[in-house]
Amino acid sequence: MDANKFNGETVTDELLKENGYRAYKGTEQPIDIYYNIKTCTHAGECVRGNRDVFEVGRRPWIIPDNGQVDQVIEVLNRCPSGALKYIRKD
Ligand code: SF4
Repeated sequence: MDANKFNGETVTDELLKENGYRAYKGTEQPIDIYYNIKTCTHAGECVRGNRDVFEVGRRPWIIPDNGQVDQVIEVLNRCPSGALKYIRKD
């Protein structure tokens, strides 16, 4: 799944927030990650894909700066439910 698309449209911060996504901002890595808890099916692909970026039980549970942007995008695209989206900032 292409995690920078929502219903076929390239995502924007506004579009994602209107649709219930919460933002997790990268500062060192040029990426903001978005998550919608209502869409998540808890398949765990994110946590298996990068435990430094995604860690259930930690606050915040998503830290974009803990990964390398290209690897993180690969993981985001594996999310089967569409609960994870991203905006690349470079
Ligand atoms: S990969 Fe997507 S659906 Fe699976 S747990 Fe992570 S956010 Fe939820």
